Amino acid sequence: MNIMKFFNRFSLNSNLMLRLLTWIVIAYMLVAFGWWSILLFTKNSDAFEAKTEQLRIVKAAEGNYVDETTFRNSEEYQRLYDEYMSQQWMIFGEATFFVISLIIAIYFINSGYNQLVESSQQQRNFLLSITHELKSPLASIRLGLETMDKRKLEHSKVQEIARDAIKETDRLHNLVNNLLMAAKLESNYEPAYENTDVRTFLREKYQAIENRISQATVNFDMPDHPLEADIDPTGMTSLFNNLVENAYKYSEDKVRIDIIARDKDENWQLIIADQGIGIDKKEKLKVTKKFYRVGSEDTRRTKGTGLGLYIIETVVKAHHGAIEIEDNEPQGSRFIITIPKTQSHAHTSRRR
Ligand code: ADP
Repeated sequence: MNIMKFFNRFSLNSNLMLRLLTWIVIAYMLVAFGWWSILLFTKNSDAFEAKTEQLRIVKAAEGNYVDETTFRNSEEYQRLYDEYMSQQWMIFGEATFFVISLIIAIYFINSGYNQLVESSQQQRNFLLSITHELKSPLASIRLGLETMDKRKLEHSKVQEIARDAIKETDRLHNLVNNLLMAAKLESNYEPAYENTDVRTFLREKYQAIENRISQATVNFDMPDHPLEADIDPTGMTSLFNNLVENAYKYSEDKVRIDIIARDKDENWQLIIADQGIGIDKKEKLKVTKKFYRVGSEDTRRTKGTGLGLYIIETVVKAHHGAIEIEDNEPQGSRFIITIPKTQSHAHTSRRR
């Protein structure tokens, strides 16, 4: 951890140095270019004046002495003047073009660089959190096993240790599932649709994770009639588990989760609402990015990898649906998923 902190600080400093150096070079380029432009303008003006003087001398030598107004109206002078003005405009045009191109290039380089820094920071965070996520359940299971091995325990104590170990194994299982799902979504995710009564499906999925969120009060609100839709059971299981587990994880003492399914004409809707800590307005746009977690690794108390909402959004998109994140009343978040009931052009089978 200390090494990681040192590495973070070191790379932060070197990033700052690099950025400072870039700005110094850009500032130098702009100042140097400004100076050269002014010099060019002055030199062009000097050359024009010298040529005008030369013309005046030639005219005087030819014995054609003319007054200033006639001289300035003469064809030769007008030609010199037009040439001078077109060169001034050329210098101005070139300078403006250069500065605009430089600004555009700086903008793109800067935003590309920012994205790189952000994504490397997120990957570092991901590595830190995944190491922790793997180590802590293993350590806890090992401690439980050692206790059972060394001491003669009462049956109830053994059961308690076993239950804790099962919870930790479930956590590991969930983590591995999320990693596999994220890898699958990156490479070859093709939803395999099954026509399913969503109400039965959601209840089944809830029962499978019920013991992991045992302290929560969960309310179901489903239509009375069957709610049939084409869904990919694997993707939808991952979506549901992540939404419900997040609702549990990001709630404080009193956990209340509403699981709502709605029939919306051609669509169906899944709403998972909690009374937890909620999500800031500006964070709502970012939370579905891969590896993104609110806050920093040092201040965060909850465990996670930043993959959950990325998986959810990708599965929703693969089902041609949409996800909205709203504030819940009086507090917490509401995740509203809207998906078409029929997936046209899809090969669907009937789920029993
Ligand atoms: P993880 O939970 O592993 O951090 P997610 O991708 O599931 O990753 O979530 C990304 C971030 O969005 C979380 O770090 C958390 O800050 C925020 N978040 C997700 N769900 C909720 C929720 N129900 N309530 C409050 N914040 C949430």
